[in-house]
Amino acid sequence: MSSRMNRHLTKKQLKELEDQVKAERERIHNKLNLEQPHKNMSDSDSGRDEVDSANDDIIRHAELRFATRETLYLKKLMKTMALMDSEEYGMCEDCGAPISFTRLKARPTSTMCIGCKEESEREELQSFHGRQSKSLGKSISFSS
Ligand SMILES: [Zn+2]
Repeated sequence: MSSRMNRHLTKKQLKELEDQVKAERERIHNKLNLEQPHKNMSDSDSGRDEVDSANDDIIRHAELRFATRETLYLKKLMKTMALMDSEEYGMCEDCGAPISFTRLKARPTSTMCIGCKEESEREELQSFHGRQSKSLGKSISFSS
């Protein structure tokens, strides 16, 4: 564990990334908080008809999906901040190689170096094709 230290990042760079993550966290926080009163505004539902409530359901659903995505991002930001404290931040969780400052600057929540990220995306693609050909093979063996 202790061998995984972000020594390739200067204190100044780390601080810069930390500020970036904190600003992002604030932004999402405010976004989520701003939506709360909007959601609870349905006190005056005296003259509602079916169409109105159907529309409401769609909006509520969209808000929920949006909120979930934001919440997930918020969790990622919190995880990143915890990582920053542990000094393991900026190291690839796959191969342990340092992630370049340029990459972190563009995406402070990165936990993989560009090489591993590309590889994992390739694997994802391959397993997708693998699943496809597997099901194809199944249907062939069924018909024979
Ligand atoms: Zn890596």
